[in-house]
Amino acid sequence: MWARTKNLLLAPVLLLFASLSCVAPSAQERAPIIDMHMHAHHIPLPLPAGAPPPCRPFPCQPEGAATATPEESFQKTLEVMERYNIVLGFLSSADLETVQDWVAAAPDRFIASPFIEEPGELPPTMLREEYAAGRLAGMGEIGAQLYGVAPNDPALAPYFALAAEFDVPVLIHTAGLGPSLPGFRTAAGNPLLLEEVLVRHPNLRVFLENSGYPFLDEMIAMMYHYPNLYGDLSTMSWVIPRPAFHQYLEALVRAGLGKRLMFGSDQMRWPEKIGEAIEAIEEADFLSEEQKRDIFYNNAARFLRLEGGFE
Ligand SMILES: [Zn+2]
Repeated sequence: MWARTKNLLLAPVLLLFASLSCVAPSAQERAPIIDMHMHAHHIPLPLPAGAPPPCRPFPCQPEGAATATPEESFQKTLEVMERYNIVLGFLSSADLETVQDWVAAAPDRFIASPFIEEPGELPPTMLREEYAAGRLAGMGEIGAQLYGVAPNDPALAPYFALAAEFDVPVLIHTAGLGPSLPGFRTAAGNPLLLEEVLVRHPNLRVFLENSGYPFLDEMIAMMYHYPNLYGDLSTMSWVIPRPAFHQYLEALVRAGLGKRLMFGSDQMRWPEKIGEAIEAIEEADFLSEEQKRDIFYNNAARFLRLEGGFE
């Protein structure tokens, strides 16, 4: 019921964007972008409206104010998508109803996916019905590391098996960077812990949050051996110091992995971070224009097997 009310509230906003797109050609002049890491108002810890975004390392003073409601998150996220010509977003939340609300309000703009917190909270049996019905098309973000659960934990095996069975792409939080939750374990974010999963499911398409930052050597080793493993460039573009982000990105590109890196914003409840994330890549002067287009669009299109459908 309240979902219907929300959609009615969103209708005038969508009309507004439709008219704006006619009078603001600059957004359309931008080459298309795919955002591989978006959330439908989701953030895995309770935060009041107006709360600042995360930053590392402490002490640090981030700029920004968290949105108050899913409606505000949607409206502001879509506004930024229009402005930067983001044609598609890999969208997840633990609240599947909110994901479906966003998909309904902006058809063909999102790949609907469940955010997996602690294994079992969204049971695989329930998710199976959603995939079979075509209501979900991605797996993850799998955020089990936030609760100390590593990728090779048997509790996650049914989720990887489900993704393999339905051949949907998987986003997993496997990095040495994450929210301040009591269960978060840095050691559980080592990309090497994903190895047995990739051996078990050789055709599974998996991408790692922040390309495993800062486990650079481990990430390179894994990507060299497993061709279906990709990495996103998400919160590292706005949570950590910009030089550290650029240094990591340049190291991956120098290692020859520029065709397997994908833009993501991980905007959570700070939609303005999407633009900041885009600009952090645009200003990387060690990247050629072709390499930037690969990161912003081409690599994700290949990973998602879009076959040019959105160009
Ligand atoms: Zn995320």
